Amino acid sequence: MRKTKIVITVGPATSSFEMIKKLILKGVNVFRLNFSHGDHDTHLESIKTIRQVSKELKKEVAILQDISGPKVRIGDIDGVLQLTKGDTIKLTKEDSDNRLSLKLSYPRIIDMVNIGEEVFFADGTIQTVVIHKDKDYLELKLLNSGELTSRKGVNFPKTKLKISAITNKDRKDIAFGAKNGIDIVALSFVQNREDILNAKAIMKAYKFTPFIVSKIETGEAINNLDDILDLSDGVMVARGDLGAEFGVTKLPRIQKRIISIANGRNKPTITATQMLTSMKDNPFPTRAEVSDIANAVYDGTDAVMLSDETTVGKFPIEAVKVLHDTIKDVEKDYPYFKSFNTLNKADAVSKSAVELAKNLDKEALVSFTLSGMSAQTLSKYRPKQSIYAISHSLETHRKLSLVWGVNPLFMMDKVINPTRLIYDFVQKILEEEYATMESRFIITMGAVTGELGSTNFIRLLNREGMEAILASEF
Ligand code: PGA
Ligand code: MN
Repeated sequence: MRKTKIVITVGPATSSFEMIKKLILKGVNVFRLNFSHGDHDTHLESIKTIRQVSKELKKEVAILQDISGPKVRIGDIDGVLQLTKGDTIKLTKEDSDNRLSLKLSYPRIIDMVNIGEEVFFADGTIQTVVIHKDKDYLELKLLNSGELTSRKGVNFPKTKLKISAITNKDRKDIAFGAKNGIDIVALSFVQNREDILNAKAIMKAYKFTPFIVSKIETGEAINNLDDILDLSDGVMVARGDLGAEFGVTKLPRIQKRIISIANGRNKPTITATQMLTSMKDNPFPTRAEVSDIANAVYDGTDAVMLSDETTVGKFPIEAVKVLHDTIKDVEKDYPYFKSFNTLNKADAVSKSAVELAKNLDKEALVSFTLSGMSAQTLSKYRPKQSIYAISHSLETHRKLSLVWGVNPLFMMDKVINPTRLIYDFVQKILEEEYATMESRFIITMGAVTGELGSTNFIRLLNREGMEAILASEF
């Protein structure tokens, strides 16, 4: 089994039943629905298709809803606007007939930006600096030449933007996600604690408890990374917007830093954007792209993600195969058995279980887990062996699709008696032929099973143990 997970974005190129089936068979773990595009009907169709195929193939996958957040954009431009270095343009609060005056999707931002701060357009390809500020407009000097077209994104790398990360559209999208059984929600342009608390408050009203992935896309989010990690289940290294804010040459160091901090805090990471851009049009990747995938894996990412490559690209299946093959090769000499500080008692138990695995070699790790956290905590220490997660919660089972090295093997009914639970497990794993009597396991669970954070039990199981358990009566 591959340990680093694959997330793909569903779009016109991949939404059919046949394509979803091919993608699951190729090993896609998480399907991302990008709510910056497409309407609810289209996304609902995708959800139904993914669940249907997954049921048919008896393979659980997670569905990730990517909420657009307050991405700042310019309005419509007639044709192409040619811009020349040294010239000036205006950002205005009101529409204007002047082609060089652009209206922002959040006009209030004009009040928050100061003279001397930078404003970037179209993924950082047009760079400007504010030279004059008025009540109703900003005057920007162009630092390079280039062109702009309608609705391009705008970044303010040095500005503290006081706009809520949750827009009215996001509220409606979250309600949709709650209603349609979404597993993971990614929040765009999260800046601070409040943004996540706001999102959670809305979710709570719908009794919606998805895995929450905060997208780290701005300098402000990096400044507040610790706070954001406190309240998130995972993070995304959103290299598209980060690259626009910081310039692409700063990205590798930022990526390593986010992943390493998140790894230590046991928060799964997704590395995203332009992993295989050339494969939108070509059946083969560049050497540099393959190296980038490999390096993200070595950095410790839990998952790598495709966007345009699978929404509108010509070779989505081939792109997934390149991810899979590259990851598999890296995992031959991956730096397994990483060391981190423990965060709590259950973490210390998991760390010991992985240490045991390191010294024993053949044993697969098994986690009976309610919330998924104890499987996740085993994953933190990056064991070389498989981590089989067993839960009675379908939600947990699906969410774990995102977590490095965790194989959500099968579901089991809720059982309180730990001996009975192991009995049921041994029966089922033999019956489903995931293991034989020669298999060996390191089992972790809460001695009072079914209680959150109660992992306090490690048991080695080999042939003799299995025979004894199978001979017991229930
Ligand atoms: P996006 O987020 O694709 O929604 O913009 C990812 C990124 O910015 O890299
Ligand atoms: Mn983004």
